[in-house]
Amino acid sequence: MAKAQFKGTILSGHKQAAVEVPFDPAKKWGIVAAAMKPGRRGHEVEATLGGVRFSSFVVARSRKFWLLLEHEHLRAAGVAVGDDVTVSLEPASRRQGGCICGAVRFRVTGPPSFVCVCHCNSCRHATGGAMVPWATYPEGSVVPVKGDLKRIHTSPGATRGHCAKCGTSISYQHIKRPGEIDITLASLGDPEDLEPTAHIWVEDKVAWLVIDDGLPQYARTVGQE
Ligand SMILES: [Zn+2]
Repeated sequence: MAKAQFKGTILSGHKQAAVEVPFDPAKKWGIVAAAMKPGRRGHEVEATLGGVRFSSFVVARSRKFWLLLEHEHLRAAGVAVGDDVTVSLEPASRRQGGCICGAVRFRVTGPPSFVCVCHCNSCRHATGGAMVPWATYPEGSVVPVKGDLKRIHTSPGATRGHCAKCGTSISYQHIKRPGEIDITLASLGDPEDLEPTAHIWVEDKVAWLVIDDGLPQYARTVGQE
């Protein structure tokens, strides 16, 4: 996704400010369109305003969106409330994730190496889902921000991580894939742009679930038919 430029006006809020940008549905631009979906809280972006670059969020409003600004961003960019400005946005290279109760938060940096949907018995059992979408990252690019994962061995060589308080499933690691960690898409704050490219462990798939999305299906994992 490339950088895109938007023209908007600076508004002041009680704690934060925002650049308010009218949204033109005819000119849908991925990251903003994703944030415009009903119920979305926001989409993390890198913004450039007045030559200053910072991380922030776009938040959907009716027929417009807000880019949230800290007052220090305003000062650094040399702009003030009421000014008309041009802001450029690009997807954040990092994203935040966490469990549903908020006790565990973490940050991932960079893109995942693989995004898939797993149908294995153990993923279904551990999460209660009919299938589990995962994103695979280099272990070092997942950094804890708050709380610790409770890790348990669920099958030979496999370790799953979840929040000890609320039980949200967060991670999976296997000794056959050292240096890698899988993160549940559901625990990544903003998984809208992370689309699975394969179904794995389809040999365990529940019979009533019909896959018709055209993605490759692997009986077990990729390269392990
Ligand atoms: Zn929790």
